[in-house]
Amino acid sequence: MELKDIKTYVNERKAALKHKIGLNMKDKAPSLAIVQVGENEASTRYVRNKIKDCKEVGIAAEVYFYPENTTEFELVDEIEHLVEFYDGVMVQLPLPPHIRVEAAIAAIPKEKDVDGFRRDSCFDPATPLGIVNYLDYCGFEWTGKEVTIIGRSDIVGKPLARLMTNKDATVTLCHSKSKLSNHIYDSDLIVCAVGQAGFLNCYPIHCPVIDVGINFVKNDEGRSQLVGDAFNTDGRNVTPVPGGVGLLTRLTLLENVVKAKEMYG
Ligand code: NDP
Repeated sequence: MELKDIKTYVNERKAALKHKIGLNMKDKAPSLAIVQVGENEASTRYVRNKIKDCKEVGIAAEVYFYPENTTEFELVDEIEHLVEFYDGVMVQLPLPPHIRVEAAIAAIPKEKDVDGFRRDSCFDPATPLGIVNYLDYCGFEWTGKEVTIIGRSDIVGKPLARLMTNKDATVTLCHSKSKLSNHIYDSDLIVCAVGQAGFLNCYPIHCPVIDVGINFVKNDEGRSQLVGDAFNTDGRNVTPVPGGVGLLTRLTLLENVVKAKEMYG
């Protein structure tokens, strides 16, 4: 399987979404509230991109910003109020250390948890679902395929293993205690979600790679550069960073908001 151009794919799906919203939801657009706590440069950039994406397809999105010293109690109270007015609500991570992520997420009802972070959420998490949908588009034939996922986080590796197993792939979920070389060589597909620039460099890769990692390195001019976990591998049949999995994640959030409106709005 050859990986297809992600930007083309994302633009096609966004155009379809825009068409659907214009056709069926003219009277009341799907809506999303984004909760951000504290000044985190990366979070502010992610939130700005999400607002831009929403505007592009016709989702009414609003950011609710709370100062760093907001208490967990205050934040939960605010979220419980916000959920009344929106089809989807999401909390931009990370939160300040004094606020438990579980407490904030639990304040969002499962029908509005468009990030899919609750265990009982009505939605699959955006990054894993985005990857699976994209691989379908690329024509990946799941049945009997050996997939190695490196990284077992609750937001990427674990839910991705479940989705891919449901597609009839045979999934090996690896982590820092795994003997990776035993698995990598025989894989039909590798998903790398470790968060270390160039992590895959020392392994011989013979199959497509989905690069989830987001890492910053200094380039030759001393400027910060965004790269993935497959940075510096030979680059063929590897999803790009930037312009890869991040775009799939953003697309799937939009699709989850529209689904929330269709199913529960
Ligand atoms: P975490 O950062 O929570 O965990 C990293 C995982 O990598 C852990 O499971 C860890 O194993 C594993 N790991 C660390 N070292 C090794 C090693 N030497 N060999 C094998 N496995 C190892 O994972 P996240 O999923 O939250 O994030 C991973 C990366 O993906 C980050 O760069 C993050 O920014 C990015 N990301 C990108 C998204 C996007 O939309 N593009 C969305 C979400 C994340 P162990 O469990 O044993 O510690």
